[in-house]
Amino acid sequence: MSILSLPVATLGVPRIGPRRELKFALERYWSGKIDAAGLKDAAAGLRAASWACQKARGVSVIPSNDFSLYDHVLDTAAMVGAVPAIYGWQGGEVPLDTYFAMARGRQGAEGGCACGHDATGVPALEMTKWFDTNYHYMVPEFQPGQRFALASTKPVDEYREAAGLGFATRPVLLGPVSFLKLGKCHDASFDRLSLLAGLVPVYIEVLRRLAANGADWVQIDEPCLVLDLSDAERQALRDAYGMIAYALPKLKIMLTSYFGGLGGNLVTALALPVAGLHLDLARAPGQLDDVLAKAPRGLVLSLGVIDGRNVWRADLDAILDRLEPVVARRGADHLELAPSCSLLHVPVDLDLETDLDPDLKRWLAFSRQKMGELAVLGKALAQGRGAVRVELDEAAAAISARRSSPKVHDAAVAARTAAIQPWMSWRASPFPERREVQRAALKLPPFPTTTIGSFPQTETVRKARAAFAKGELNAAAYETFLRNETDAAVRWQEEVGIDVLVHGEFERNDMVQYFGEQLSGYAFTRHGWVQSYGSRYVRPPIIFGDVSRPEPMTVAWSSFAQSLTRRPVKGMLTGPVTMLQWSFVRDDLPRAEVCRQIALALRDEVEDLEAAGLKVIQIDEPALREGLPLRRAEWQAYLDWAVDSFRLAAAGVRDDTQIHTHMCYAEFNDIIDSIGALDADVISIETSRSKMELLDAFAIYRYPNEIGPGVYDIHSPRVPTTAEMLELLTKATQRLSPDQIWVNPDCGLKTRRWEEVRPALVNMVAAARQMRANR
Ligand code: GLN
Ligand code: ZN
Repeated sequence: MSILSLPVATLGVPRIGPRRELKFALERYWSGKIDAAGLKDAAAGLRAASWACQKARGVSVIPSNDFSLYDHVLDTAAMVGAVPAIYGWQGGEVPLDTYFAMARGRQGAEGGCACGHDATGVPALEMTKWFDTNYHYMVPEFQPGQRFALASTKPVDEYREAAGLGFATRPVLLGPVSFLKLGKCHDASFDRLSLLAGLVPVYIEVLRRLAANGADWVQIDEPCLVLDLSDAERQALRDAYGMIAYALPKLKIMLTSYFGGLGGNLVTALALPVAGLHLDLARAPGQLDDVLAKAPRGLVLSLGVIDGRNVWRADLDAILDRLEPVVARRGADHLELAPSCSLLHVPVDLDLETDLDPDLKRWLAFSRQKMGELAVLGKALAQGRGAVRVELDEAAAAISARRSSPKVHDAAVAARTAAIQPWMSWRASPFPERREVQRAALKLPPFPTTTIGSFPQTETVRKARAAFAKGELNAAAYETFLRNETDAAVRWQEEVGIDVLVHGEFERNDMVQYFGEQLSGYAFTRHGWVQSYGSRYVRPPIIFGDVSRPEPMTVAWSSFAQSLTRRPVKGMLTGPVTMLQWSFVRDDLPRAEVCRQIALALRDEVEDLEAAGLKVIQIDEPALREGLPLRRAEWQAYLDWAVDSFRLAAAGVRDDTQIHTHMCYAEFNDIIDSIGALDADVISIETSRSKMELLDAFAIYRYPNEIGPGVYDIHSPRVPTTAEMLELLTKATQRLSPDQIWVNPDCGLKTRRWEEVRPALVNMVAAARQMRANR
């Protein structure tokens, strides 16, 4: 029988709407401008539009329940009734306000903040990164003896909603093993997998209801399949899917793995009693041969050939070269085409980008364009390439234009990275020697005080920036405004007695965008939003070409600030790894190579800052740890080039120039060698909430350089007292030598108000003085 196309799936699409409709609906709901029915209507409208769009673009396997008001892991927790006691849930269906309390916390009667820092409110669930993406999920909390019960029929409701609109969908669930693995328990020694036997019956109930409503296939995501799994975890997969197959022998399950290859879990995955298996062939193209050799005949393979993690137009001919022999060998009836993972991680629609350079635009594909690419592949594989000749030719022309474009390739950059020498990553002298010359040059007191860089981005600052962007404020007026803000910030820091000052970063919209806009090889979209968490979306820059620095980027602001004071001002830069990690990165060069290009551009900036008289320069790397690959075996290779890029950016300066780095909250235990290898003269980290426990890793390692453990939790509007900060500093001295310790907040202060920042920093300086006096 001849078919017109291979089945085409999306596995899930962005929920936010092409114009961020979901965010605006949520914010209206939270501020009381619309009620729950209004929010539900808006959400239903987005779902209907998204199903129709997928169908129109040639998707034949359309998902349902991929939508979420906030987060799909939170949805799963609600589905199985995993609601911690503090939220006061009484059983039954989880109400919307309980759901949002878990997502965002609930304010107490006395007011306070939404982060749960007052006694009467409840905090939100913890949030953490979804695998190696920049999406963050709400971490489910479990306890020993945890019971599960069906507490949200969302998957069934949305399946029925789609059916009512004429869309036969394949519902999506987060699988039980990944769900348990992604959660946490206060008693860290508790084995969460022991909860599986109680959890799976709830899944079975949901699946039974889906089947009763007509679903013949269900997609179950087990992204944990691409991680290093223990034997017990593999057994849990066998148990879970064994129970499901036993209960529902007729229901077909498409089990998805994504964000990497199955590796050592391949045999386990192939032996599970499921009808289909999805493979990420963008990240792990090599696994296809292995799977084809070992997969049982009847297993439907979902081939994730279009990159769901990046924004580049695919080389369709190259994909067809790979897939045509597979179709010939295996037949078309047990194959499906899909993106490598859900399209959640790419922007919605390239067509909205009217200001992008047309060449660049032609090289890109966002969620909706990727659906089109899949449809073309589906047709080509069923009917031959001739059936989609025009589309294939257009794709091939775009690919070849990109390959040879002078916008992408800059011979000078290539020559410069090729000429990198190992000595360029080394400071002139080792730290103990640098420390002496820096002490002589800076003459700082013990326990020197500083801040991490940004001061409050007040309403006035944001308004001025917006007015400047709209052309309502001219460049000279904007400049004057920023100078006044900077001047006031510098004077204030001097007055309260901070030792190493910052200029305040008032001129910056965002720590990556500000630099990206000044570097060659970076582009920015207007509507390219991607969900970071809940209603927070980001527009990652796109690194499309060789990166270079046409002109100094921060020297003017830093030297202006330095001209206002005799105290040292810190030059403030975003590091190469973070510049890479928070962007969409070109796929025609190794990430390590792109990182080195950025490092060289920053190296020039560092040297220019030094030449302009800045004695202290901070290179922020909050994204260093989050760049770690999912598999341990790949960690070291990543850390090697990441650390080397930082050193390349930093090491061009004289011994008496002090290099700082900053990282936000992170577990340092397992990367402490690499933190040491950065060889920054000073590192500031976020430690206040952990009560300095994060310093243990530094203590055990005998970290030799200087450290500023954060003593002020900047996530909370609360003003810490001098006594509290003294206590934290005393804790720090139990782990580190007093002459290593700096005194600073956890992170930048841009999200805080001056009313909070002023007294907090006054108290911080008092705490430092007290420490000095006690010595
Ligand atoms: N220098 C930046 C700031 O203060 C650092 C922010 C961060 O680490 N996320 O805002
Ligand atoms: Zn930070």
